Amino acid sequence: MNHFELRGGELHCEDVPLSRIAEAAGTPVYVYSSATLERHYTVLRDALRSAGLGEPLIAFAVKANSNVAVLRTLSALGAGADVVSEGEIRRALAAGVPASRIVFSGVGKTAGEIAFALQSGVAELNVESEPELKLIDQVAQSLGQRAKIAIRVNPDVEAGGHAKISTGKAENKFGVSFAEAERLYANASNAAGLSPVGVACHIGSQITDLAPMEAAFSKMRGLVERLRGQGLSVERLDLGGGLGVPYFNQPAPPTPSDYAAMIGRVMAGLDIAFAFEPGRVIAANAGVLVARVLHVNARPQGRQFLVLDAAMNDLLRPAMYDAWHDIRPVTPRPGPPVTYDVVGPICETGDTFTRDRALPPLEAGDLVAFMTAGAYGAAMASEYNSRLLVPEVLVKGADFAIVRPRETYDAMLARERPAPWL
Ligand SMILES: *Cc1c(COP(=O)(O)O)cnc(C)c1O
Repeated sequence: MNHFELRGGELHCEDVPLSRIAEAAGTPVYVYSSATLERHYTVLRDALRSAGLGEPLIAFAVKANSNVAVLRTLSALGAGADVVSEGEIRRALAAGVPASRIVFSGVGKTAGEIAFALQSGVAELNVESEPELKLIDQVAQSLGQRAKIAIRVNPDVEAGGHAKISTGKAENKFGVSFAEAERLYANASNAAGLSPVGVACHIGSQITDLAPMEAAFSKMRGLVERLRGQGLSVERLDLGGGLGVPYFNQPAPPTPSDYAAMIGRVMAGLDIAFAFEPGRVIAANAGVLVARVLHVNARPQGRQFLVLDAAMNDLLRPAMYDAWHDIRPVTPRPGPPVTYDVVGPICETGDTFTRDRALPPLEAGDLVAFMTAGAYGAAMASEYNSRLLVPEVLVKGADFAIVRPRETYDAMLARERPAPWL
């Protein structure tokens, strides 16, 4: 369910025509729906509640969409934040997420980032390896603190929509084995700078099948029970994110209530505080990337190229993950569909959003929307080709706000300095 619909022949975000936003902010531009963000968060929260999982900490994965206005929309509903860098901690705090609802994940936290997280008072640091555990212990002791940590386990299951976003196999760089987790947890409970509070896992992203999650989660339950059997206290079980969304060409992913019901079954009778780290399932369908058609370029061989003003630097997923995004004209023209290769202006063949896509007929100047672009869209954008960082707009009902304006070329150049010998 999302709030991007045709009304009077024109694609709207909630009550605002996308063409009005394109006029105000220029193109390309990301547009987010507050109502969709809010709905996805509350549907997931309510599903987890009704599956008997208590009042879980739902820590939105900031890397999916790190815009502070988006984070604020979610934190106003009680969302926490799952962060992977000091920058993301700062964004979460700036958005009003209480530190007590921030979970710090990631395989390569620096000493400086760990110190910043501890001084901010984050809820927990998810530890991915023994060397990291030692570093956190040292940093915490130097600050006179005990760091609340969770051990991230790699449950060694195959899951995730693409090799680059699968994280739960033993060969991936994430987490430790179950045997190592037990050892590290026991060590941590004796370390002066550490206070182990829980265990965590996150097996991948864009998961459309509950079976690997169920397998991983029942192993996690077993781990909690073994640790408790050794007299160790385990307060929290963090089950990560990873639930997939429909990108239209894929099997329908499980619904939040299927997901929650499965967890309720696996965890029945386990008395523990649950945490989740959803990203994509909250934000993906809450955002679109609006672009303008620059040219319709018909080649003699019969290929029709639709050249847009958006490029792979604005939306990297097709180039990076071969991802499929539905593309909709903002004001569809009548007529039979035309098969297009949809490309951006960057000097790389990889700057192709899709090939051989049948779309309603389009002309230069028309607007199109890449659907399901609210997660891993703007957050992964760059200035490659010295294109200005793409702006972002948040819609609420009939209102909209430019929550990240397009930068200016002056500002882009002002960030750089000549070397003294030039
Ligand atoms: C990326 C990531 C998430 C979010 O994944 P989604 O597929 O967007 O739900 C959650 N936790 C960790 C540790 C991650 O790296």
